[in-house]
Amino acid sequence: MDVVEIQTKSALVRSGIPGVNFVINPYLGCGHGCRYCYAVFMRKYSRLHANAAWGSFVEAKVNIVDVLRAELAKKRHAGAAMLSSVCDPYQPAELRYRLTRGCLEALREFGWRIEILTRSPLVMRDVDVLKTSIGASVGFSIPTDDDRVRRILEPNSPPIGSRIATLKKLREAGVETWAFIGPILPMNPKALHDMVAPHVSSVIISALNYRSQVAGVFKTHGWGYALGNDYQKGTRAELKRLFG
Ligand code: SF4
Repeated sequence: MDVVEIQTKSALVRSGIPGVNFVINPYLGCGHGCRYCYAVFMRKYSRLHANAAWGSFVEAKVNIVDVLRAELAKKRHAGAAMLSSVCDPYQPAELRYRLTRGCLEALREFGWRIEILTRSPLVMRDVDVLKTSIGASVGFSIPTDDDRVRRILEPNSPPIGSRIATLKKLREAGVETWAFIGPILPMNPKALHDMVAPHVSSVIISALNYRSQVAGVFKTHGWGYALGNDYQKGTRAELKRLFG
């Protein structure tokens, strides 16, 4: 993994995501290296890794907390911010850099609502900040119940069981939790429902969008059926029925 430190000029990026005003991405690139990742286009913003394989590099925006504090100080009203939209805020580099934690502390100080989307149990490290923020919530991406599928399509991401266990701990700590089932991967919808449902208050379901990006790997592993509209629509309908 090629990890480099960079400077950023901005922290808050206006967002069209429902329920949040801005997104914050402390890293350019993502060590989880999901094969289906929608954020690969971010390479074009890198001076160092424009042609590097997605998942092989991370650029840490080491001044982002200072930049964020300056931006928050200029806002007339507190809003809601999500970490993150084009990287995982708790990817392995966060263990060393603590940029996500710094951003959370700044958001809490200025009274902003925090929304997290991650695949990593490392979020538990910051439960003290989340518990003392106004209306913080944590979403976990859990696009399959099958760890064999996870290992192939999300090669560096934490096991599914560890995500479920972390949702449970967060909920027990009084933090609101939700799940993002997307993109829809090969799965057993009933098994996924039974794992996730006890530990979340809501679920967002999203189809597989960039199918040509993963067509080869899906077919190699016998999952070609999951690329079709019938599977995507059928699985979505089944999940909606199960989750009510
Ligand atoms: S965790 Fe998210 S941003 Fe990171 S590689 Fe996977 S899909 Fe992309």
